[in-house]
Amino acid sequence: MAIIDGKALAQKMQAELAEKTAKLKEKSGQTPGLVVILVGENPASQVYVRNKERSAIAAGFRSEVIRVSDSITQEELLFLIGRYNQDPAWNGILVQLPLPAHIDEEAVLLAIDPEKDVDGFHPTNMGRLWSGHPVMIPCTPAGIMEMLREYNVELESKRAVVIGRSNIVGKPMAQLLLAKNATVTLTHSRTHHLAEIAKQADILIVAIGRGHFVTKDFVKEGAVVIDVGMNRDENGKLIGDVKFDEVAEIASLITPVPGGVGPMTITMLMEQTYQAFKRSLES
Ligand code: NAP
Repeated sequence: MAIIDGKALAQKMQAELAEKTAKLKEKSGQTPGLVVILVGENPASQVYVRNKERSAIAAGFRSEVIRVSDSITQEELLFLIGRYNQDPAWNGILVQLPLPAHIDEEAVLLAIDPEKDVDGFHPTNMGRLWSGHPVMIPCTPAGIMEMLREYNVELESKRAVVIGRSNIVGKPMAQLLLAKNATVTLTHSRTHHLAEIAKQADILIVAIGRGHFVTKDFVKEGAVVIDVGMNRDENGKLIGDVKFDEVAEIASLITPVPGGVGPMTITMLMEQTYQAFKRSLES
């Protein structure tokens, strides 16, 4: 068994990104810009946003965090997004989720210019992904694909099982694996005989948000196991969806939590901002 070191790969990619950003800045005389809009004071969101800002600055981007009160109306928020859509100085726009209950999340995601939608959540980008012409890809599954590539995991003709069908992880994950010619099964909370199905997987991706749900009974000997989950146990410790200690004994490759998928997500966000910047220079 080997452990997939997401932290090390993320650091390597960030260093490469800073290098290519510096070159393109010099050549173009312009700087990539990422703006993050944070509504309200959700403590977890504040940490995520701070980390994104730090990564953007490390990559050599211009970074702005717009902090607005959770009393902002939907109309005001849409107006704010519209301003950044129009401003060519910004290549990436991200609205940190979740949003307060009075704001329609779908309307907000729809308002972001798809060419600046570095999270890849806009229906245009989802459609591009599903029709085989991806432009902006949700960052977590994009990061997982990078990890599988780095660790030379063969996907062609392999059996992949994805547990969880959210728009931000499970569904795009399934499509990315399908595009690499894996045979994919997408499962969810209504799936019967889940352990039996999961046990057929050569590559098992788990994104459900239930601490230590996947035990060794779900895993085939030699499978590659990717744990997306981020949960807190009763002592407040960060744990994945996979019972790492027992699954690691039978998996050929496995991601830890923390230090697996998490660090790659932010790195892919920066990579997509860079790509959006590059495309803007070409257009
Ligand atoms: P989500 O939107 O809550 O979706 C969870 C999915 O899991 C749903 O499709 C749900 O099925 C399925 N599910 C729930 N319980 C299940 C069960 N007992 N058996 C089978 N399927 C089950 O969650 P998400 O946003 O995809 O996130 C999933 C986890 O990944 C969370 O822990 C989240 O914190 C973590 N995450 C981590 C990163 C990172 O960068 N590391 C990024 C994103 C998310 P139904 O559709 O039938 O309800």
